[in-house]
Amino acid sequence: MPPSVVEITRREEFSASHRLHDPALSDERNRELYGICNNPNGHGHNYELEATVRGAVPATGMVMNLTDLMRILRERVLPQVDHKHLNHDVPFLQGVIPTAENVAIALWEQIEPQVRRYGCRLHRIRLFESRNSYVDYLGPAE
Ligand SMILES: [Zn+2]
Repeated sequence: MPPSVVEITRREEFSASHRLHDPALSDERNRELYGICNNPNGHGHNYELEATVRGAVPATGMVMNLTDLMRILRERVLPQVDHKHLNHDVPFLQGVIPTAENVAIALWEQIEPQVRRYGCRLHRIRLFESRNSYVDYLGPAE
């Protein structure tokens, strides 16, 4: 019988501010491109972050202990972004335009090595920027 593959997901929330602005472009082009998200003094979001680990179910019955996944997010990741200005306060976002896409990629890079330490495989980062808008990142293209 083939192994049963299951995806498990932990969801956490954080609040942060950001500004979408590309310094290589004119102020006018930035306003066209990013609209209200180009507001010079930034603006805030209540983000929801979901990390999904995918794998076969071993004898323990757990793809990964969800408590360990929760700890990775709460102890290693959220303190770096919660109540921060993503453009200014977060070392791993320096020089990155903090769109939801780019933040999801950067969060993957923070979380994936932690998950791998447990011998597990991160499958997806889903980042909600608002209740109805989210992006999915499935890792680097192979
Ligand atoms: Zn925004």
